[in-house]
Amino acid sequence: MAKHKGRGWHSKLLGAALGVTALAAATSVWTAQADTAGARQPQAQASAPGARPQDRTVTKVAADIAHASDKGARGVNITIDDGPDPVWTPQVLQLLKDNGVKATFCMVGTQAQAHPDLVKEVVAAGHRLCNHTVSHDTTMDTKSEAYQSQQILDAERMITKASGGVRPEYYRAPGGAFTPYSRQLAASRGMRPLGWNVDSRDFERPGAQTMVATVKREISNGPTVLFHDAGGDRSQTVAALREILPWLRQQGYSFGFPVR
Ligand SMILES: [Zn+2]
Repeated sequence: MAKHKGRGWHSKLLGAALGVTALAAATSVWTAQADTAGARQPQAQASAPGARPQDRTVTKVAADIAHASDKGARGVNITIDDGPDPVWTPQVLQLLKDNGVKATFCMVGTQAQAHPDLVKEVVAAGHRLCNHTVSHDTTMDTKSEAYQSQQILDAERMITKASGGVRPEYYRAPGGAFTPYSRQLAASRGMRPLGWNVDSRDFERPGAQTMVATVKREISNGPTVLFHDAGGDRSQTVAALREILPWLRQQGYSFGFPVR
């Protein structure tokens, strides 16, 4: 799987970088002990970790909007948007862990930049990253290509940096404001455009029970379910997830990722 391959690359390069650093440090000490007359320092080696592992793993993906699950007909894709958020993301992560669920987090670039530790936590727990632009402009489908490009590529950089080199694997336009241009651009950067089939409407805070009922009623529409872990008080979302995740499993669904 591309994700694991990507992470493997990163680990290997990180290991290599640490190795180089350790070697440089050791050489430095040895030089200092053996030669106090200002022999050349091994500074050239400091540039070795400059390689960009994430850039090596960019593989173009399909540009049409994905909805299907990699777990097939009885798969469900839990998608969590607009974070990360220091209050709500940890609670959502705990619930996902308690229920053995892997999810896809569609992150806003500025949020990722502000909370890199949370981005790393999401990745370490086995979830996947999705690019949800820099500014969450739901009218970006009416804006110039230059603007759309900046929104997508800058968020890609912010999220990848915050994660420590793990790239977002999907692109979800805020409010679904995709354009053919933005889909092609994201796909060329290895981010599959990602839609949804079931909107829990948690953003409107209708009450946890209403959200649970919405998901139960609409899950037959398709596998990709939309929730949020930021943008306001998400306690109803947490309460709804606590109920809906075990229910989905009881119904025989398995939790997967959107296809790429
Ligand atoms: Zn959003």
